[in-house]
Amino acid sequence: MAAAFLLQLPNNFRNFSVSASSNGAPPGVPQSGGPVIVEIPLDRIRRPLMRTRANDPHKVKDLMDSISQIGLQVPIDVLEVDGVYYGFSGCHRFEAHQRLGLPKIRCKVRRGTKETLRHHLR
Ligand code: ADP
Repeated sequence: MAAAFLLQLPNNFRNFSVSASSNGAPPGVPQSGGPVIVEIPLDRIRRPLMRTRANDPHKVKDLMDSISQIGLQVPIDVLEVDGVYYGFSGCHRFEAHQRLGLPKIRCKVRRGTKETLRHHLR
């Protein structure tokens, strides 16, 4: 299933594995260009709005079942500003990964500026 999903990605999508060791921009994420799909350790993703809204526990449970069976089919959106990752959506998928004890989550990473970040936090 996961392989089938990957085959549907356009050729210019690149897959990188990001190491937890660096605290700067990871080697796989280019300094310019479009979004890239990378696996990022959960503890490297800041979620500033996490406490503002509770997840639906039923959705999380269903996602846990599905992710453990067929894997994450749609990556979560992540913003990268100065080497720091921020997640504002994909909350149920993120929690499902946490509860499953998965160390990394597949992310669609876009680079942004501090202004982009301020816009998300407004
Ligand atoms: P979230 O807060 O993570 O966006 P939602 O319940 O609103 O949670 O949406 C779930 C999303 O997870 C959908 O976009 C769905 O396509 C995606 N998804 C990714 N992988 C799976 C999977 N294995 N099973 C079910 N949905 C999945």
